[in-house]
Amino acid sequence: MTPSTRGRSEARPDELVTLERATCTYGTQPALVDINLVVHSHDYIGVVGPSGSGKTTLLRLLTGGVAPSSGSVRRAKDLTIGYVPQLETVDWHFPVTVNEVVLMASPTRRMVPWASRRERAAAAELLERLGIGDLGARHILELSGGQQQRVFVARALMRRPRLLLLDEPASGVDAPTRHELLHLLHDLNLSGMGIVLTTHDLNGLATHLPQLICLNREVIARGAPIDVLRRDVLERTYGAPLDVLEHAGMLLVVDAHGATATQRRVETASRN
Ligand code: ADP
Ligand code: MG
Repeated sequence: MTPSTRGRSEARPDELVTLERATCTYGTQPALVDINLVVHSHDYIGVVGPSGSGKTTLLRLLTGGVAPSSGSVRRAKDLTIGYVPQLETVDWHFPVTVNEVVLMASPTRRMVPWASRRERAAAAELLERLGIGDLGARHILELSGGQQQRVFVARALMRRPRLLLLDEPASGVDAPTRHELLHLLHDLNLSGMGIVLTTHDLNGLATHLPQLICLNREVIARGAPIDVLRRDVLERTYGAPLDVLEHAGMLLVVDAHGATATQRRVETASRN
């Protein structure tokens, strides 16, 4: 939040969501405290922090899924938001096919037998674009983690959102799928879609993003990975001594006691 945007009732056209001193409390426990954040249509932000640091709650504040207990959340007029849930939270016993999952998200919410030709074509095109064009008739339970991830991305894109939110999109998917997802999100962002994702994967995902927010109930730091992935910031975010190595423009977050323990430490500190 810059001082010039404070107190204005109308958001600027490229401001999608603005949080001002937003605090979110479940029962008596605050999950997020005093969050100031503006998400623009050009933003592509990764939210990192340990388990329980409020990452999912931050996404829910952006969607309106939870209301702030104090402070404010302002969304652009008629803002459409696509939400890709964390795979682990999806109820997989719901008997639906890939086509049905995607079509359910179309603005008219018509299911397969009643979907218009245009809706079906839009769904088919999205599945094709995501490399799962041949899986439309499959039950979602019969897919790999990476394929399921893509189905839910297609579903979120059906509404042509201006803001796309993804909760832990890297969890449960292999490295090639993660790379494809990164490319897709990058392209969507270049086409003018704001993107916010959460991740506990610092080296596999976060270091490849243009912008990070380090979160632990409050925003510890926001900026490019090279600027925020610093020992002091990581210590305040994870409560663990982590170092950052830089080699040929690449960043690697490692255990302060040696690279071999890195993954264990980061994953344990931040597993969700
Ligand atoms: P993260 O996604 O970073 O793991 P969450 O946003 O899920 O963090 O949770 C932040 C805090 O809020 C945690 O302490 C969690 O236990 C608590 N919390 C999250 N959702 C609820 C809920 N529906 N009811 C009560 N407490 C919750
Ligand atoms: Mg979470």
